[in-house]
Amino acid sequence: MSTHFDTIIVGGGSAGAVLANRLSARSGHRVLLIEAGEDTPVGAVPAAILDSFPGTAYLNPRFTWNDLEVTTETIPHNRPDARPRLRQYEQARVLGGGSSINGQLANRGAPADYDAWEARGAAGWNWNSVLPYFRKLERDVDFDGPLHGKDGPVAVSRIFPDRWSQHALAMARAFAAVGLAYRADQNSAFEDGHFPIPISNVNDRRVSTAIAYLDPATRQRANLTLLTGAHATGLHFDGLRCTGVGVMVEGRSVAFGAGEVILSCGAIHSPAMLLRAGIGPAAELRELGLAVLADRPGVGYGLMDHPSVALAAFVLPHARINGRTRRHVLLGLRFSSGLEGAPAGDMAATIATKSAWHAVGDQIATLNIWVNRTYSEAGRVRLRSGDWRDRPGVDFNLLADRRDLERLAGAVRRFAALLDRPELRGVIADPFAASYSDKVRQVAAITLRNRVLTAILARLLDGPAALRHHLIAKLIVEGPPLASLLRDDEALEAFIRRATVGVWHASCSCRMGGDEDPMAVTTPLGAVRGVAGLRVVDASIFPVIPCANINLPTIMVAERIADGILQGA
Ligand SMILES: Cc1cc2nc3c(=O)[nH]c(=O)nc-3n(C[C@H](O)[C@H](O)[C@H](O)COP(=O)(O)OP(=O)(O)OC[C@H]3O[C@@H](n4cnc5c(N)ncnc54)[C@H](O)[C@@H]3O)c2cc1C
Repeated sequence: MSTHFDTIIVGGGSAGAVLANRLSARSGHRVLLIEAGEDTPVGAVPAAILDSFPGTAYLNPRFTWNDLEVTTETIPHNRPDARPRLRQYEQARVLGGGSSINGQLANRGAPADYDAWEARGAAGWNWNSVLPYFRKLERDVDFDGPLHGKDGPVAVSRIFPDRWSQHALAMARAFAAVGLAYRADQNSAFEDGHFPIPISNVNDRRVSTAIAYLDPATRQRANLTLLTGAHATGLHFDGLRCTGVGVMVEGRSVAFGAGEVILSCGAIHSPAMLLRAGIGPAAELRELGLAVLADRPGVGYGLMDHPSVALAAFVLPHARINGRTRRHVLLGLRFSSGLEGAPAGDMAATIATKSAWHAVGDQIATLNIWVNRTYSEAGRVRLRSGDWRDRPGVDFNLLADRRDLERLAGAVRRFAALLDRPELRGVIADPFAASYSDKVRQVAAITLRNRVLTAILARLLDGPAALRHHLIAKLIVEGPPLASLLRDDEALEAFIRRATVGVWHASCSCRMGGDEDPMAVTTPLGAVRGVAGLRVVDASIFPVIPCANINLPTIMVAERIADGILQGA
């Protein structure tokens, strides 16, 4: 294998696979894609990844960075060194990255999201500039028109109400009754309402970027080399020019050189790679004993995710999915908090008729609520040491801005009342406040023990109502009962502070921005400021998190920057 390339892409995830395809389309341009996780070639994609139900892919340690732990709770301003408790946070380690294990929700956010990117200094990223790339990436099998692409690599489809569970249909009736009308196409209607969730899926099969962009024809290109199972350990420099990458493959250390290196390691590992190379806040690098190559104070700062809590309820047997589809999340919701100054549609929710792969998961529905236009921008990725084997330290600081907490509390009250509406009588029972806690994670681990224990518990839950009521209160509910949270503002706040987690939308940790912005890590085309021959292209470079699940926005970013590179930018 050659050891010198025109472009090396580190990380074959949502962004990296797109770049590998588009850049190698120019014949003669030699591209190396390096991915730490395993390959997923078309024809041999693991069943858990292809499955429309994603809950076994992201819980499979084979496809994730298993030592990653993060904090999510607020870090007080007067105690910046405080360390709240650590919890797991799944990030993909497999070709296709997040797009191979994620929930497959495929939306873009609203025009105002990208106008905000440009307003923050990312010139050329307003809605009209990004829309052609959202169209280019997709093949929407349901809708046509000026907002949709019909022949892009990523198939987008929806499961319409004729295939919904009775639970999903009853939730939809309740939303309509409170003024949240049905909108058939989330990606072209930006008003509040409920909708069938668009998914990166066709014929009941996931479409990852590895499947869509690293298809057999693309892999045939002589100028494209894929190296999977290869962990990039560091960047090589000649002065301030990045000249290549050090990689550990099958226990051997190998060096590759390139005209340009693109980091697409995701919003946690890309900033860590920069920091290890000495690109970051100078004082902090020195404290770790690292030589400073470029003092970029923004590296790792401003990490974001969407803060989220959930309401859950027992679903009566006739209203469950009962084999209609493998999908568990069928409808979603865009709604407005009404908080003064917050834009319309600042909140989102998804409704899952089934909450996990196991027997109890089939019986518990969740309403996952999150702040889409979050004001909390105080998360951070830092190094714990300069050793490439050491996981980065990650603090999301999710409720750093109190307005996020207030909107979650308002939404919990609003939807607790909705779960009590007539449309849901005889459909759900025993609602409770919930969260994707470590206990939920443990029970969701794919083990024989969990399969057997949940099967036994599920039989009991389908028994007499009094027994179910007791078992849910004793074994499933983790915080205070919903009724007492609703009666007591302080208890509700305490619950939300403890229960809030992200929804795996890590982003904004190496933001692109204008020349005048000292915190900008990259130019608006991903070129790392202060050095040459190095870009970051992935969810890290978002100037702010959009009101969207961020897989399609990440693919859009890669499409647009690949185009810029091919045009010589
Ligand atoms: C469990 C889960 C559920 C989600 N659900 C949704 C959803 O339903 N809809 C949605 O829109 N978004 C969802 N997301 C978010 C979305 O998938 C991600 O934001 C997106 O995939 C990020 O793309 P990326 O290219 O920035 O990084 P990634 O896709 O994470 O790619 C980074 C890649 O780099 C590799 N890598 C990292 N470091 C190295 C190294 N040193 N050497 C070699 N390779 C390296 C990783 O293994 C990985 O494959 C979800 C994410 C997760 C994890």
